[in-house]
Amino acid sequence: MDTALDTTFAQVLRRSPGEVEFHQAVREVFDSLGPVLRKNPQYADAAVLERICEPERQIIFRVPWVDDAGRVRINRGFRVEYNSALGPFKGGLRFHPSVNLGIIKFLGFEQVFKNALTGMPIGGGKGGSDFDPRGCSDGEVMRFCQSFMTELYRHIGEYTDVPAGDIGVGGREIGYLFGQYKRITNRYESAVLTGKGLTWGGSLVRTEATGYGAVLFAQEMLKARGESLEGRRVAVSGAGNVAIYAIEKAQALGARVVTFSDSSGYVVDEDGVDLDLLKDVKEVQRGRVADYVDRRPRAEFVAGGSIWDVPVEVALPCATQNELTEEDAKSLLRGGVVAVVEGANMPTTADAVALLQESGVLFAPGKAANAGGVATSALEMQQNASRDSWSFDYTADRLTQIMVSIHDRCAQTAEEYGEPGNYVLGANIAGFQRVANAMLALGIV
Ligand code: NDP
Repeated sequence: MDTALDTTFAQVLRRSPGEVEFHQAVREVFDSLGPVLRKNPQYADAAVLERICEPERQIIFRVPWVDDAGRVRINRGFRVEYNSALGPFKGGLRFHPSVNLGIIKFLGFEQVFKNALTGMPIGGGKGGSDFDPRGCSDGEVMRFCQSFMTELYRHIGEYTDVPAGDIGVGGREIGYLFGQYKRITNRYESAVLTGKGLTWGGSLVRTEATGYGAVLFAQEMLKARGESLEGRRVAVSGAGNVAIYAIEKAQALGARVVTFSDSSGYVVDEDGVDLDLLKDVKEVQRGRVADYVDRRPRAEFVAGGSIWDVPVEVALPCATQNELTEEDAKSLLRGGVVAVVEGANMPTTADAVALLQESGVLFAPGKAANAGGVATSALEMQQNASRDSWSFDYTADRLTQIMVSIHDRCAQTAEEYGEPGNYVLGANIAGFQRVANAMLALGIV
């Protein structure tokens, strides 16, 4: 790395000890920025690097709630308002027991560059809690969300900070959060949250957007090499929002998705995933992926193990961070993988990314490939601002245009910096420059 990058990275390590995922995310961006800093000394003069690593504001709060047995439970809530140079802070809320400040900071940092890549007027932020909604009743989830919002409401707003969903936060949770915000503020401020239900300010295509977007990105990457998704064997890890709609889009484009997973194991279905069944198991019954096999006798459930041992041509990690390691990358290479596209945030470890890239595999980083979700959230905000709702086809067309333009921006930037096909470099540089230039224009704030 360059001296300025080295110095700033050392400062990040010193200031945020133990936040390993955050360090990993910063390192990954910094590894791309050397040539940009050499071309643009004004960034160093205005301490853009140091400022971009330091969130504008970090909020940590107690979330007390009462479970069905009448026991008082305490969780920790977070909102990291990372960078608002391009627009209000924007990014999801994650409810998962693994959540801590370092995880939220890594996600917020990634979000800044991702949102910049969409070309839309949104800054970056992220939040969540170590609350685990799994196994909770609806009433418990509602009481938790109400307590969480009772603190969060004073920090967010249509022009300030606009949260959305992420792991463990779907339509149900956004509903309870929005209800409490409305009650406390006495305002129907639709654009304060995105991912809302369709009858109360939500946008068509938002539910599908991240998964669809990742597959559209994969399609564009393959197209640039004169190839396509049609007829390809595909693996999609996870079985949540991103995974389900990645499977739907991949199948619509003629691919055969043969495997998906959750944290207990993976399912192999050589006939191709029965999506109606999977949606029923996950979205209606809120069950586990193993339940799919009970109703689909030819499919097999493998407890534990790695989904990346299943031979495929295209891999879409759509579950969580660092779920695809160097060992997994070796398995994928043995199985003949040609493209890896991140639907999740930072699901591939740095060693695995390096190995895949050295081996000539097309690799799309999450900050580019999964940006369709936040982009459609911005479309939801546009509809809320104009008190309008758009048709599915119109919104889906906008999503497609956005994904194509993110792809092209990454590809062109990589080419401009002498590394054609390096989407990691292209995404990091293009995202960084857009934020950095806005920060320069706004002065030292
Ligand atoms: P969901 O909560 O809907 O689904 C997450 C899925 O991943 C579940 O099937 C879950 O299984 C699985 N999972 C979680 N942790 C692990 C683990 N350690 N090992 C294996 N599987 C695991 O979340 P989303 O689909 O919304 O999010 C998935 C990823 O996509 C995250 O990285 C998120 O940050 C990213 N993302 C999401 C966006 C969105 O619009 N929703 C936008 C952009 C990025 P289990 O039930 O067993 O925990």
